[in-house]
Amino acid sequence: MTTRALWCRPGDFGLTRENADDFVAQAAGAGFNLLLPEVKGCEGLRWPSERRPWAVERPFDSFDLCEAVVDSCRRRGVECHAWFFDFFEGESSPVMLRHPEWAMRDARGRPTNEEQLRGERFTGLWACPAQRPGYTDQWLVPIHAELVERYGFEGVHHDYVRYPGDLAPDQYCFCDWCLEELPRWAGYLNEAYPDEPFDHELYDREYLEAHWEQSPRVLPAGWDRLNRAEKSRFLLEGSFFRYGRADLDTFFYQFRKEAVRRFVREVKEAVDAVRPGVRVSAAVFKNPVHSGRFIGQDWREFVPWVDTMIPMDYRDHFPGTFEHYLGLLEEAVRRQQGWAEGCERLLAGFAIWPLVRGSEDEGARRERFVETLRLLKRTNPAGYCIFCASDLTKWGLWDAIE
Ligand SMILES: [Zn+2]
Repeated sequence: MTTRALWCRPGDFGLTRENADDFVAQAAGAGFNLLLPEVKGCEGLRWPSERRPWAVERPFDSFDLCEAVVDSCRRRGVECHAWFFDFFEGESSPVMLRHPEWAMRDARGRPTNEEQLRGERFTGLWACPAQRPGYTDQWLVPIHAELVERYGFEGVHHDYVRYPGDLAPDQYCFCDWCLEELPRWAGYLNEAYPDEPFDHELYDREYLEAHWEQSPRVLPAGWDRLNRAEKSRFLLEGSFFRYGRADLDTFFYQFRKEAVRRFVREVKEAVDAVRPGVRVSAAVFKNPVHSGRFIGQDWREFVPWVDTMIPMDYRDHFPGTFEHYLGLLEEAVRRQQGWAEGCERLLAGFAIWPLVRGSEDEGARRERFVETLRLLKRTNPAGYCIFCASDLTKWGLWDAIE
């Protein structure tokens, strides 16, 4: 069976049960059989949580959006996954106001809302995926479990399951906890003999790096006296061996990947403990080899805990012309089918907004949308996922799906 999925913003459903039902009816009528309503954006929870009432975004303290959507989807035979913004928060979100210590920090100790992006201050506040106890285990995993306990969603949906991307990919995280934990995790010193350098007694091999297996002390002498910026620089740009290759970034990236992967595993375990068999889908970047290095998202490693992988094959994630896009898109989807082997289904995600331009006539816009959809139907019979419902409305494309 082909899955035809749609990312939906809360505004799509309106603020009454009747409006929500009308929207689900429209989507089902257009052929969609999986809806992904956004239940946690960057401003709090969109359900009237009794356990965390301080974190509920208005007006979802009085209108139970999730109940209305789940009920309507169930009656119409439409699968429904609750869409979470995982590590991306707003700077005035209730959880970050309450726990500013959970934010990622750069080498100067600054959170992400002190960055500039395209000439303007960035107002998002990314949370550290690695810190324990922290945002991941004290907040993000428990709210997934709470939602599944409360509502009959068939699945939960990961988004922003990563480190920041368009924003300084190599600068995070150097929070106090990561600065302590990364060297311990990577074995940069031997805890039984913390002051021993343990240089190799022979250095008798052709290459310096060939002497790695005895695990010398990697941290330089005087480590404890270095400031945050100096420590951060060493952890990102330093060498395993004095005078060796600058290779410590390998461990930095590995540490980040493990933090994200551990979170994905823990969500699956937590929701399964509430209701066995709950599904998990994830919006991921188009090439896991690249996103593993840049944003800690090597989604090939998510496969045991994600059954529906949805790479975001958006027009703006590819270079060149629209014609180039079609060629690159087909190639990307074929590679993704290999990377997602072991998942129950791979859905090719694409976005309307980078495909259409307001300056063009309606025919040209529709043609590009239809051509993309046609290519995906041919290349990936398992299905597709469209971002997003309100853009189908904005550009008059609901009837272009079939
Ligand atoms: Zn951190």
